[in-house]
Amino acid sequence: MQAITCAQIKRYAAEYGFSAAYCFPPEAEDRAPEGIQTLVLLAREYTPGGRLTDRFYPASNAAYHEVKRMAERISDETGVKAERLSELKMKPMCRRHPAFGTGKNTLNYLPGIGSRFCMELIGLCAPVESEECAAYDGLSLDCGTCDRCERVCPGGAISAEGFTKERCIRYYMMSGRVMPDELRGHVGLRKGACGIIGCDLCQRVCPANAKKETQRTEDDDFTLAELLDCDRETLARFAALYGKNYAVKNRIIAQALLTAANNGRAEYLERIRRLEDNPSALVAEYARWARKKLEEKG
Ligand code: SF4
Ligand code: SF4
Repeated sequence: MQAITCAQIKRYAAEYGFSAAYCFPPEAEDRAPEGIQTLVLLAREYTPGGRLTDRFYPASNAAYHEVKRMAERISDETGVKAERLSELKMKPMCRRHPAFGTGKNTLNYLPGIGSRFCMELIGLCAPVESEECAAYDGLSLDCGTCDRCERVCPGGAISAEGFTKERCIRYYMMSGRVMPDELRGHVGLRKGACGIIGCDLCQRVCPANAKKETQRTEDDDFTLAELLDCDRETLARFAALYGKNYAVKNRIIAQALLTAANNGRAEYLERIRRLEDNPSALVAEYARWARKKLEEKG
């Protein structure tokens, strides 16, 4: 087995599209599998955007595929067994690592990237000398008197007491859980949560994300009509772009129903009425809600 250095790991990370890599030994609270002597936390930057699906999701899916390739290559080329670790909680690792800041919105931050990154984790069966790394500059995430994320959150999920997931729109999206009535009206609007998946309102307003926010795009991979129908071809493409765990037909249609109603898309009214009898309780419930909303607007 060859020795491996943190600098080497960073080079691999850059080749596989990761913006940053941090190597450190696991602590007991990480519950790393036996034999893992080094954890490699990887961050992949993305450009914010998307009306229907937040651009975080394709970036995260790409990171998932790339990290598996990266681990295989490290094992092949260095002889140090490397594996993607999917079960370990990364947020606590970030909280204790000096490179990261943590916002009132509970998200992790990196200098220059803000909170616009997705994370992956590799475990190595060999020690790697940790590199000195600059501590996160607290001034760039001065939550002190700021309460922008708290004020913008439609559900009131962020407060001085912490984060209440049951008040967060994202908690319901694509999960099969029925979103409370009072949150549904914020889905799919330009100044609201995304239509199908993702609510980044608490990130959009954060001063530490201001630079990335200037690059925002409205790029979408699908039209609303495609997602309301969600035929086999659409579902397959959805799986390829965002990962097969998200490619659940009823959940996609359900979110598309809320989006159609919130945007006053009366041209879909007949299609929506037919979905009121759908065997999926979620689709049927959202179809009734959407039909009522469109009729009221009509
Ligand atoms: S919006 Fe303000 S309070 Fe919220 S995470 Fe950003 S700096 Fe902190
Ligand atoms: S993701 Fe949206 S709903 Fe959830 S905490 Fe942030 S602003 Fe609130």
